[in-house]
Amino acid sequence: MTWSHWQVPPFITSVFFVLGVFTLYWVSYNWIASWARNHCLKVSEESINTWYGVAYMMAFAFGIQTFVVGQPNSWEFMNFQLIAVIFCAYFLNIHIPYYWFFPILLAYMTFNGSLGYWESWGHAATMMTFFITLNVIRVRYHNHKMAPVLYMAVGIPFGGLLWLWMKLKFDFTWLTFWEEWAYLIIFEVLLYIYVSMLSHDVELKLRLAKFASHDALTKTENFAAYTDAIQYLFDEHQNSRRPLAMMMFDIDHFKHINDTYGHSAGDAVLQQVTDTVQTVLEANDSTVKLYRTGGEEFNILFPGYDLVETEHIVKQIFTAVNHLEIHSAQTIIHVTISVGVSAVSGDDQSPIDFYNRVDQNLYHSKRNGRMQVTVA
Ligand code: GH3
Ligand code: MG
Ligand code: MG
Repeated sequence: MTWSHWQVPPFITSVFFVLGVFTLYWVSYNWIASWARNHCLKVSEESINTWYGVAYMMAFAFGIQTFVVGQPNSWEFMNFQLIAVIFCAYFLNIHIPYYWFFPILLAYMTFNGSLGYWESWGHAATMMTFFITLNVIRVRYHNHKMAPVLYMAVGIPFGGLLWLWMKLKFDFTWLTFWEEWAYLIIFEVLLYIYVSMLSHDVELKLRLAKFASHDALTKTENFAAYTDAIQYLFDEHQNSRRPLAMMMFDIDHFKHINDTYGHSAGDAVLQQVTDTVQTVLEANDSTVKLYRTGGEEFNILFPGYDLVETEHIVKQIFTAVNHLEIHSAQTIIHVTISVGVSAVSGDDQSPIDFYNRVDQNLYHSKRNGRMQVTVA
């Protein structure tokens, strides 16, 4: 189907155009972020969001302006550009240091041929203040129930002021001024609703992903996450000889704790033991991860560690857990752990071979009276 002339009012087309621009941003950002994750690039999603967001929206603002630059109606796409600015400042919450605005705004004014107009300087200063104000209200009041009201309370007057500068410069009619301002307000509302719906979906996916890879009781990563990680790290060792070590531990006589103090005291023990181990790991190296691989059995993977480096952290964990005092309703519970440690070797054909050796070391500790560390 082709239309020889456009049957839909320009405003409706504009709405879908704007939403399309943001949808494309969202889809392409997610693609880049997952590509970076899959290739284990050490770049945070936040910095991808910032750099890609700025580049995308600048390309959009400059790109669209090329259609009208130098013409008497070169203000025509300003609402689209303002919406891009609001998206970066409020929804992506990109923080640009104020001195960065000068080169960006100067580049834009040079491109637009508006350096010689005082109204354009006023416009640029208003734009900068608008951006920073949106940043501030986003950070301070993001979770406040009045957040949408505040967003509009900033968006409406700044939009009016920005259009007023354009009215002064281009001297278009007051009717055009009111019309454009009203369109901007409608865009601002639609953008808020649209982004809220999209982020609700993203949050839901994040929650589900976390649920699938974490253990609900101890908040550590679960067996599925362990299987993924060990396969990935083992392959990495095969390909690049990057060292890998593993510590496995099992709480001693845990059944006795359950039988004596009850199941919920047992649960509290599991939580406190894992909290303690996580504290030690965070203090040492956040790339070392703890996994709950069985009821009271846990594995820790040390990517890039040899045995000597691993033992240093293992000792800290062993001491911290064995000194724990867990307060239950009736008494103070003391626990001990038995530990097996090993590093991946050239003889290991699969992650299972590696795992079995660590497991045998753990059982060696159990057989020799528990509360022991076996490294081999
Ligand atoms: P050993 O020193 O040889 O490891 O003895 P143990 O008693 O620790 O080992 P055993 O395998 O006999 O018992 C493990 C117990 O852990 C049995 C099971 O009921 C309990 N358990 C497993 N998961 C949970 C849990 O989520 N909460 C609680 N409270 N207990 C659990
Ligand atoms: Mg046990
Ligand atoms: Mg066990």
